[in-house]
Parts: sequence; C-alpha cells; structure tokens
Amino acid sequence: MTKYEEEAPVLTIDIGGTKIAAAVIGRGGEVLARARGDSPDSSDEVVLVDAIDRIALQALASFGAQLRDMAAVGVSCAGIINNRDGVVVHSPNVAALRRTPLREMLVERFGRPVKLANDATLAALGEWQFGLRKAVQDLVYVTVSTGIGGGIIAGGRVLEGACGAGGEVGHMTIDVNGPPCPCGRNGCWEALGSGRALAERTVSRLEDGEPSIIGDLAGGDMDKVDAQLVSIAAQQGDSLAKEVIDLTAFYIGVGLGNLINIFNPSVVVLGGGLTKIGPMLLEPAERVARERAYVTSACDIEIMTARLGDESPLLGAAALARGDILYSW
Ligand SMILES: [Zn+2]
Repeated sequence: MTKYEEEAPVLTIDIGGTKIAAAVIGRGGEVLARARGDSPDSSDEVVLVDAIDRIALQALASFGAQLRDMAAVGVSCAGIINNRDGVVVHSPNVAALRRTPLREMLVERFGRPVKLANDATLAALGEWQFGLRKAVQDLVYVTVSTGIGGGIIAGGRVLEGACGAGGEVGHMTIDVNGPPCPCGRNGCWEALGSGRALAERTVSRLEDGEPSIIGDLAGGDMDKVDAQLVSIAAQQGDSLAKEVIDLTAFYIGVGLGNLINIFNPSVVVLGGGLTKIGPMLLEPAERVARERAYVTSACDIEIMTARLGDESPLLGAAALARGDILYSW
C-alpha cells in the first residue's frame, strides 16, 4: 500500500442470509458511514452482487466518497470460504453462493483489491483488533446465536486452516449420541448449546405437558418460542425456563472447556444474541468451562462478552482488507 492508501478508509461488506451491511471504516476502526439492505431472495449470484454493489454505493454516498477513495474492500460472509482463491464454497443461508468466485466478481465490479473471509473468523479478528483494547496473542472468540460460530487467534495470527474453514467450532462433537445438527451430523456443539437448541428443548418439554408460562407468552404458538421469550419467562421465575437455560449454559461451558484445552487462550470472547440472556446463562457457562478445562490450573483466563456487537465482522473485514496486522493471510 502507498502512504495515501494507508491513510485512506476501507469499504467493508457483511453478507448475511437476510441482510447485507456495508460500512466505510477509518484507519483506527472508526465507522464513518453505514448502509443496510435486504439480501435478495434469489439463487442468482449476479443478482446478489448487484445488491452488494447498490448497498456499498449507498454507504459510500453517505460518506461523500467514491470507490477509488477506498484503500481496499473487505468482505465477510457466512459459510466455508476458500480464502486462497476467494471462492465461497458453501454458504448455508445464502442460496446464491455455491462455489462462487466472489472475490473475482467483486474485484471486477469494484476495481479495488478485495479480500474475503468467514464472518465468525472476521468477528474474531474485529474483536481482537478493535474491541479488546489490549494486546493479546491468543484469543478464542465464540458467537452463540441461532447457531454457534467462532474464530481463533493463536500466537498472534488468525487460524485459517488448510482451506479457510478453521475455527468452525460449532460443529465439534459434544455428544456422539446427541440430537441432529443442521449440518447433517449428530451431537455437534451447535445442536446442544445454541439458541435453536434452547428453543427446541423448550418446545419439546412444553409439548410433553410440563407447566410453564412460556406457552402463554408465545400466545400458544410454538413457532414463537425463542431464546428471548425463554429468558423473559426465566426472569419471571418460570422453573422450566430456568432449567432449559441452565442446561444450555452447561453445554456452552463444555464446548468452551474443550476450546480452552486445545488453544490455551488468555482471553475468551463470547458474542452473539444468546449472550443477551446475561448472567443467568453466562455465569454457569463460565463455571462449567473453567471446571472442565484442564489447563485453567496453569494459566489465568479471562472470559468476557464481545464489545462490538453486530459490527464485529465489518470491523474484522476492515482489518483483513488493510492487511497490516499479524494474521496469516
Ligand atoms: Zn453440526
């Protein structure tokens, strides 16, 4: 990068199943402009790239800038991304992305250098570079929402794996005889400790006729039972809700304990919608993680909640696009 480009902001884009977000991000992680729009309901990759283009241009326009003013473009996307050739191999919630050479398509569209990576990996990078506000070399980031994702910083580098799929923590097996996971396997961490697992566990117990106020809160519609509703019921003293949260926290803790054993991080950062349940979920999860982690006796580990919220992939994409930090891309 030239001196001018080093000082120039970067354009970042986060492609999700329902929304596409774009931001213009300054050198120190300042979000200078934002735009958001719906993801197109289409399996055509060109329609998707058109939508990305439109939302990116909105963000640029609100900052009064053009693409040529951007040092580079960083893109975050759910799924498995081969970061060597910039191909999105598979993205579970974006039908248009299937063996799509997205980097090449966006370079052609934007005429700027483009880098892309998995959203949870970039969320880890964002929290590490801009959220943590202190220097650590070993960090495990886990996001628990409908599913479970994560990213690993090991020895001051982002763990990318052989084909960009490193850090897919949600699909480690926790219970070989466990419930089915959307990935097609059984007993994955995501099938036991995610928001979806929490909701399914609740519905199953309600359908067995266990007493609870959750059914009333959902207006009798089991499709409306989600982590937020269960959390509200638990705050009102509902014992089924409390038990379900406690069991979900246990499984979150078991998975965290495994990650602590493997990566020996100094910091574990927990993000994602489920953390909004608060201490009722986080305290037992942390206790179980520490109990089950063999290495905790040798090392202090800080377990904290994420600071950047939904913007962490956009900020991670900014760090990735700049390429001036110590990751391994
Ligand atoms: Zn799985």
